Amino acid sequence: MSLITDVHADTVVAHADRGIDADSDVAPPIHQTAPFRAMSDDEFALMSNTPRHNRNYTRDGNPTFSRVEAVLAALEGAEAALLTASGMGAISTTVLTLVGSGDHVIAQRTHYMGTAQLLATILPRFGVDVTLVDQTSPQAFADAVTVKTKLILVETPANPLLTITDLAAVAELARSRRILTLCDSTIATPVNQLPLSLGIDLVVHSATKFLGGHHDLMAGVVLGSREIIERVWHTAVALGPVPDPFAAWLLLRGLRTLPLRVERQNRTALEVARFLEGHPAVSRVHYPGLASHAQHELARRQMGGGFGGLMSFEVGTGSRGAHAVVGAMRLVSRAVSFGGFESLATLPGAMWSGSVGASKAAEAGITEGLVRLSIGLEHPSDLIADLDNALQAASPGASR
Ligand SMILES: *Cc1c(COP(=O)(O)O)cnc(C)c1O
Repeated sequence: MSLITDVHADTVVAHADRGIDADSDVAPPIHQTAPFRAMSDDEFALMSNTPRHNRNYTRDGNPTFSRVEAVLAALEGAEAALLTASGMGAISTTVLTLVGSGDHVIAQRTHYMGTAQLLATILPRFGVDVTLVDQTSPQAFADAVTVKTKLILVETPANPLLTITDLAAVAELARSRRILTLCDSTIATPVNQLPLSLGIDLVVHSATKFLGGHHDLMAGVVLGSREIIERVWHTAVALGPVPDPFAAWLLLRGLRTLPLRVERQNRTALEVARFLEGHPAVSRVHYPGLASHAQHELARRQMGGGFGGLMSFEVGTGSRGAHAVVGAMRLVSRAVSFGGFESLATLPGAMWSGSVGASKAAEAGITEGLVRLSIGLEHPSDLIADLDNALQAASPGASR
């Protein structure tokens, strides 16, 4: 797809879209148009009848999308990519392309909430059976396979405890049974993890997070073989999860700095995680880069470049302490999402209790004292000072 091969990710994001669109602009133009003009009847017929034509109607494609797709495909090592309006647009459109009535899907007990909803309420309505398994056990995936299994859906690391799925093991067992595999790699980014290189068939990202990186756009992407991505495109034309050209252009701009940002976020996150692990008010830190993470060795093997900018930690004094910490931080806002320039925090206990119920949340290890922290691009010393200060508010002896 791209003219640029055998270069580092930093170079890929600068040049992989060159030549995709016939122009001489150094900074790419934005094609903010719904239809494109045909110069002859023959050209009109060709535009209408060519799959993924990027100058016919923007629901089918757009040159700005093609540039973003070229960069993402080159980064991920994929033959093809399809840009969508959101991460959920990519996941739902892909899953609905690959399975139908009578098929069986294996997925994880822990998934992003929108994915969990697709699996729990939408697929069953279309006659698709779903089995949810413990993602830490490759054997659990193997045991769940039936003759009807069409797809294994994984997400690693998974929110909010940064649980890891062994991608090579799942890919191997799926390939031996001719089952397709789809990995949501949003939290890792292609800088830290390349599922296709481990034998996974398809990768999806919420580009709203690290790929965009500035908390200012929503987009998603699915990547894989040209053949499957074209099938997903046919579904997308019917379902309509089309990105806006401006969001695509913002994403392209964000991607230029992806490796720089993620490398910095990897380093800051590890520093912050180590600080939190040593703090008396913190009872536990969930970060795959820490030796104390139950799957640290697997994460090291699978996440070659680093462990990402997302972590969670448990405040010893429970719900009250967690609320106190988040309320006392000055640099870190209370907000959903992650992966941008600005650090953000959420309280997964409250969010999960609201959506799946308190007992299910506790069963999944989502305690009331859990704080999820998305590391931004602030200086690590400033973030650590802010956290240190905020944690005093959560200490048992703190005056209220
Ligand atoms: C945010 C997110 C999604 C959904 O992406 P949107 O862009 O919000 O639709 C899917 N998977 C993961 C892991 C996410 O964090």
